[in-house]
Amino acid sequence: MDELRSNLFFEPKNGYDRIETAERIDAEKYCRAYMEFLNDSRTEREAVDNAIRLAEKNGFAAYVPGKELKPGAKVYQNNRGKALMLAVIGKKPLSEGAVIAGAHVDAPRLDLKQIPLYESDEMAYLKTHYYGGIKKYQWVTIPLELHGVVALKSGETVKVVLGREPDEPKFVITDLLPHLAQDQMKKTMAEGITGEGLNILLGSAPYADEGKDRVKLAILSLLNDMYGISEEDFLSAELVAVPAFDVCEIGLDRSLIGGYGHDDRVCAFAELQAILDVKDPERTCVCLLCDKEEIGSEGVSGMQSEAFDTFMADLCESQGVALRRCFEKSFCISADVTAAYDPIFPEVFEKRNASRVNYGMGICKFTGTRGKYASSDASAELVAYLRSLYEKAGVIWQLCELGKVDQGGGGTIARFMARRNIDTIDAGVPVLSMHAPFEVVSKLDCYMTYKGVLAAYEDR
Ligand code: MN
Ligand code: MN
Repeated sequence: MDELRSNLFFEPKNGYDRIETAERIDAEKYCRAYMEFLNDSRTEREAVDNAIRLAEKNGFAAYVPGKELKPGAKVYQNNRGKALMLAVIGKKPLSEGAVIAGAHVDAPRLDLKQIPLYESDEMAYLKTHYYGGIKKYQWVTIPLELHGVVALKSGETVKVVLGREPDEPKFVITDLLPHLAQDQMKKTMAEGITGEGLNILLGSAPYADEGKDRVKLAILSLLNDMYGISEEDFLSAELVAVPAFDVCEIGLDRSLIGGYGHDDRVCAFAELQAILDVKDPERTCVCLLCDKEEIGSEGVSGMQSEAFDTFMADLCESQGVALRRCFEKSFCISADVTAAYDPIFPEVFEKRNASRVNYGMGICKFTGTRGKYASSDASAELVAYLRSLYEKAGVIWQLCELGKVDQGGGGTIARFMARRNIDTIDAGVPVLSMHAPFEVVSKLDCYMTYKGVLAAYEDR
């Protein structure tokens, strides 16, 4: 009877019961490299810079339109410093399709407004406009850093990273003390902290003169010394406040990783490492590090932009292949994180279909909200293809859905890839506390997502 059961039942197993010791060592090594990448990649621009640095170290060169591309050639295209496309040319022509993996490198954060700086009652503040889906109350009373660029009228761009080094000051948004929070505590969690209340404390020491706004003047004078900028230069700046926590191991057993921006740099690093590691692929492999996913993949650097089509059309043209012929035979993993089942909040999950920490790469046949609204919904055939591929490649994975029916939901770049007539499926790392300033993932799941993308790249 037990044999009949084991033949007929589907019973998912914890990844730790399925992984060999040797592979656990590989996973550790992989995760150390990921933690370093994540710690140094706090914005999409920094992620792209770091990815280019790693790619060049591994033989990739900037794509030059019109240049001949032989099988094995490694090229990348930098889209305005905010998104990156990398390709390894396959032995087969692009008329056979490409294997694409796409993940985003933007993450929820607090953007500074264009006129951000003000003084109130002898304290200086920066006004922010949040980017992506955040729970506002999570962003107060945590240390923050400032990252980004100030573009000057001269054409020069000043890079800003402030608060990353141990000896640099950090920033914070204050909250009410409980003693005086009687009214605040009666509000809902959505209303307790408001968007216009997310103002960053920038300083308190006044300039030594008799005029107005002396603290603001002192701050501007410091900024001018450090970066040569004045208040008007904020108009053409992209400065963001991000959590100042270092990436670290979590748990006494060190099985988890905590950090800001796992969504979706954890999948971005997986596909980046996979394309760096792939050797002489049969089909052309493409790795996309996308921007603006958190606000709907809009804009010139988001996946709705034709920057991707242009890059692919260039590659196709070099082989005399029509782009549409390539797309219709291509396969895309939309590599994005999913919600890990959280035993503290079991009520929002449907346990049979939720992704579990340490059960491997999470494949979502569909995403969306309500009746699968705005989901790409991959075909059964595509899921069957991955089942077979991952069995051969020894990839630990799980099929999952983001939360209970009608509990909420979300989207990814999948539908924008599918719209191009590319077979697309969602797959990525399960995350605890997704979109919080400090998110948690499992090392085993991170490594298996890398292995899952690599297996697709290496397939014939
Ligand atoms: Mn995401
Ligand atoms: Mn997200």
